[in-house]
Amino acid sequence: MSFTVAIDGPAAAGKGTISKAVAAHFGFAHLDTGLLYRAVGAKVIAGAEPIAAAETLDPVELENDRLRTPEVAQAASEVAVIPQVRDALIAFQRTFAARDGGAVLDGRDIGTVICPDAPAKLFVTASAECRAERRFQELLGKGMDVSLEQVIADVKERDARDRSRATAPLLPAEDAVLLDTSDLTIDEAIAAAINIVQNARS
Ligand code: C5P
Repeated sequence: MSFTVAIDGPAAAGKGTISKAVAAHFGFAHLDTGLLYRAVGAKVIAGAEPIAAAETLDPVELENDRLRTPEVAQAASEVAVIPQVRDALIAFQRTFAARDGGAVLDGRDIGTVICPDAPAKLFVTASAECRAERRFQELLGKGMDVSLEQVIADVKERDARDRSRATAPLLPAEDAVLLDTSDLTIDEAIAAAINIVQNARS
């Protein structure tokens, strides 16, 4: 039986960590849909045309550590405004969401566009400062040479683009449960998310 958990929110709000933990807790599969846009962005940086890059995307291309850089994140948010790029990625996401045994998808438009009928929807947020600080620590931990100012600028620019685009903008679904992680530890945020999903299951 399928059961879809849709987790949306802005960059570095904790979606990835929460989604992985929720998937592990319930034994569901997990798809980080940002990786799809990052993989298309990386192909565009390498010279590809965005729509063709999305239409020919191979899931194998998602398993690449280089997709985690700030440059690729920017390229991802630039290709993500193109409606045909988004269209080309819909079928893969919906097939993943419908798999037997349950699935968690995290992104920007899962609860609104990809899986509007998902029985569990969360919108995970945190203050811009909090998110930038977390992303800064994460990138430092990966040995990347970045400054906090750069990361703040990157997060704000991507958020503005994601919120203002015409197609599938970042916004909570009407029936999403809001989870603000600004003042929560990782464990508290995970426990709150598991609780929300548990309530939706029963
Ligand atoms: O989540 P992540 O930071 O990896 O996403 C990179 C970019 O991909 C986002 O800034 C956003 O522009 C785009 N994206 C999207 N829709 C999704 C997931 C990501 O537009 N479902």
